Parts: sequence; C-alpha cells; structure tokens
Amino acid sequence: MKRFVDLGGRLQRGKINVDANERPCIDGALLTADVIVMACGAWMKHLFRRTLFSLLETERQDVLLIAPPPGDVRYDDTHFPAWIDHGYPAYGIPASGGFGFKAVITWHHLPMDLDRDDRVVHETAIARTRRYLAHRFPGLVDQPIAGVAVGQISSSKDTHFIIDRHPDHADVVLVAADSGHLYKHGPVIGDHIASLAVGATPVERRFAYGPHDPIALVNRPQ
Ligand SMILES: Cc1cc2nc3c(=O)[nH]c(=O)nc-3n(C[C@H](O)[C@H](O)[C@H](O)COP(=O)(O)OP(=O)(O)OC[C@H]3O[C@@H](n4cnc5c(N)ncnc54)[C@H](O)[C@@H]3O)c2cc1C
Repeated sequence: MKRFVDLGGRLQRGKINVDANERPCIDGALLTADVIVMACGAWMKHLFRRTLFSLLETERQDVLLIAPPPGDVRYDDTHFPAWIDHGYPAYGIPASGGFGFKAVITWHHLPMDLDRDDRVVHETAIARTRRYLAHRFPGLVDQPIAGVAVGQISSSKDTHFIIDRHPDHADVVLVAADSGHLYKHGPVIGDHIASLAVGATPVERRFAYGPHDPIALVNRPQ
C-alpha cells in the first residue's frame, strides 16, 4: 500500500457496498474509474450476492501452531515441506522463524458469520487436531500449542480462485474464492489481476465463473 501511495496512488478508506445493479459504491457513492477491481476477501459472496452467492462457500478454519519437541528439527522448514493431505483433508506448513508447526483440519465444514463471530479457537478444534496429529504426526501429538488463529475461508466449488469480469459490467473485475491460499499466491495473482484489468491478459479459464470439475478428495478416514 505504501508503494502504491509513493507511486502517486490515492488511498481512500471506506465501506464498500453495491447498488441494485451490483455496481460498487464507497460510503454510498458510486465508484468511478476506468477499471475497478473488487477484492473484499470472504465478504465478496455477500457483497455480490447475485453473481457470487451460489458459487461460494464460506467456512471457519481453526489454525493451530504446535511447538516441536526441543532440539527436534524434523518438523522445521529445513526438513519438512508445506503440505496438503487431500485425503483427510488437512494442510499446514513446517515450523519456521520461531512459529510452531501449522496444522489445519478442514473436513468438518463449520459455517461462519463473518461480521459477528469471535476469532477464538474452539476446544473441539484442539481435540480434532490432536486426533489428526496422532494419525499423521505422532511425534507432535503431546506437544504444546504455541499459537492459534481463526480463518474465514471462502472457496469455490472446485477450490479455484474466481478472477473474472462482472457479467454485467466489463469495467469491474471480481476477485474471490481465496480458498485459504491467496497469501502465498499474492505476487503472481496480483500481476495477473492487474494485467487482466488493463486488458493485456484474457480471463484465465479455470478462474472464470464455474462450474468446473471439482478436485477429487479421496481416502478420507471416517
Ligand atoms: C488464520 C489464517 C491463516 C492463513 N494462512 C494462510 C497460509 O498459510 N497461506 C496462504 O496462502 N493463505 C493463508 N490464509 C489465507 C489468506 O490470508 C487469504 O487467502 C488472503 O488474505 C486473501 O486475500 P484477499 O485480499 O482476497 O482478502 P483479505 O485479506 O480477506 O482482504 C479483504 C479486505 O477487504 C475488507 N473488506 C471486506 N468487506 C468490505 C467492505 N464491505 N467494505 C470495505 N472493506 C471490506 C476486509 O476488511 C479486508 O481488509 C490464511 C488466512 C487466515 C485468516
């Protein structure tokens, strides 16, 4: 954001909503620009109800960071990759920079009220995560929890991002369905969105409004 302002961009903070035709407004006034990119994260489903509501699912994910045993480097980023266990499903990243080993269990699909729910990890999530650690990472099962966070995750049915022009407004680009993974894709996806917005790149087929074939999840233990 600082770089944007340093380069001459103007930063205006405000509440975004849309009019009856889903044209974006800020603090009640229509947004005007050559191109408008809307990227309000998990809130996009509710902002652009007509276009996005039926395409997106929003759920909460309780994120636990487990402290590896002292001196045990097996779970560090020097020895362990970022991982996804599609069969369970679960995912995480190795312990890095003093942060614990991240483990997120995602099969239970808990709904979330984006504006009202506290971001406090549930006791049931802690129990669920320990069961999973016993299944895949027994060396971590009795280790202390070093950190927690709660994520609001917005996914499309096939878990691909949605990056497409608004069906009724060619000058409005919608960015949604971060699927809990947009941070690490940020720089590349940012370039793609900028290029799409100025008409230098067409809409990527897999990021167009679906439906696409879902990614198969197999071998989920009951
Ligand atoms: C606990 C947690 C752990 C995560 N771990 C990872 C990870 O390890 N790797 C990874 O790649 N991703 C991870 N993610 C996901 C990643 O943070 C998201 O994919 C990414 O932030 C999405 O970026 P975004 O800009 O689309 O949305 P956001 O970062 O959610 O930004 C949307 C912004 O829009 C604002 N907004 C919404 N509605 C309105 C409105 N009506 N008016 C004005 N402003 C509005 C919100 O306040 C927010 O600032 C994690 C997320 C969480 C919460």
